[in-house]
Amino acid sequence: MAKNYYDILEVSKNATADEIKKSYRKLARKYHPDVNPGDKEAESKFKELSEAYAVLSDEEKRKEYDAIGHDAFTNSGHGYNFKNMNYDDMRNFNFGGTSFEDLFGDFFGGFSTGSSRGRTQKKAAKGSDIVYSIKVPFADAVKGSTYDLNIKHDAECPTCHGTGGKKTSCSACHGTGLKNDGGFFASPCSACGGTGEKIIDTCKDCHGRGYVNVSEKIKIKIPAGVDNDSKIRIAGKGNSAGSNSPAGDLYIKTNIIDSPVYERQGNDLYINMDIDIFEAALGTKLTVPTPYGAVNLNIPVGVKSGQKLRIKGKGMPVLKKDTYGDLYIVINIKAPANLSEEAKELLISVQKITTPIDRSDIIAKGTI
Ligand SMILES: [Zn+2]
Ligand SMILES: [Zn+2]
Repeated sequence: MAKNYYDILEVSKNATADEIKKSYRKLARKYHPDVNPGDKEAESKFKELSEAYAVLSDEEKRKEYDAIGHDAFTNSGHGYNFKNMNYDDMRNFNFGGTSFEDLFGDFFGGFSTGSSRGRTQKKAAKGSDIVYSIKVPFADAVKGSTYDLNIKHDAECPTCHGTGGKKTSCSACHGTGLKNDGGFFASPCSACGGTGEKIIDTCKDCHGRGYVNVSEKIKIKIPAGVDNDSKIRIAGKGNSAGSNSPAGDLYIKTNIIDSPVYERQGNDLYINMDIDIFEAALGTKLTVPTPYGAVNLNIPVGVKSGQKLRIKGKGMPVLKKDTYGDLYIVINIKAPANLSEEAKELLISVQKITTPIDRSDIIAKGTI
C-alpha cells in the first residue's frame, strides 16, 4: 500500500510550492538523522520525505505525477529512488533548483559545511599567508619601483609534486574516503583520513608533507603612491600546503623612509621655505623643488609667515589612480641677522618713513 507523495509530505493535492517546501522542511527536521542518530526508521522516513519532495518540488515532474498517479509514476523511471542514497548523494541533489544544503544549512550547523564528514575533507584548506615588511625610499614611493626579494616559504615539494609520495587507492574504503558503517551518514575513512588514498612510498624530501621550506628570489613591483602600511598582495606566493590545496598569498607591507625635504600628509606634500623680509615685502619669484623637478612660484607682496601656497598636482601620485595630490609651500619669513652698520642705518631710514604696526587694539583687548 504505497502512500502518495502528498500524504507523505502531509499536504493537500493543490498545495502551493511554498506550502510543500514548508512542510518538507518541518518534517525533515523531525526525522533528520542528526536528530535521530542510529534510528533506522527515522532514516528511512527522512529518505521517503526527501524522495517525495524531490518530485513535488519539480514543476514538470509534479505535473506528470498528478497526471499518471503514484504507482505509474514511480514505475516510469522518471521519479527518484532515495532508498540507496548516502549522505553525499543527497548533499549533491538538486531539489527544484535548491540544494539540500540550502534547505537545511540553517538547521544543522555542520550540515552545509560538512566539516566533519566524509569526502568534503578531501579539499584541504588553503596554505597560510605570509607577510614581509620592506623599507621603501621616498623616491620609490613617488615613482614606483621593482625589488628583488628573497622570501622563505613552504613551496610544493618538487620531488613528489606535492603529493607526499607514491599513492594508491585506500583499500579500506576503496578510494571513496568514506567508511560505511551501515549508518545513513558515512564517516571519513580512518585508514586514509578521508582522502581515499594512501601513501605507499613516502617522499623522502618532504617526509610526506607535500611541501618543503625554500628560499625563493622573487621580483615585486611597488606601485607609485604607496604609503606606510600599504599592503601589496602577491597571489600564491605564501605557504603551500601540498598538492590538494591552493598556496596562501604573500603580502608586502611598505614602510616609507622619510624625505628630508617633504612632509607627507596623505597624498599631499608640504615643504617649508624661508624667505627674507625684502622678498616678503616686495614679492618675488621663487624657485622651489617638487618631486618632479623645480618650478618657479610667485610670492605675492605682503605674504605672511605660515601662509601655504598651493602647487596643484605636484604632490604624491594617488595609488592605483591617474591623479596626484598637491604640494604646499609653507612660507617662513626670516628676519636678517648680523646686519652691517651701513645696512642697519639704511633700514632705520626705511623704518622712519614706514607706518608702524598698530598694536594698541590687541594690547587693550588683551589686558583684563
Ligand atoms: Zn615530496
Ligand atoms: Zn580510506
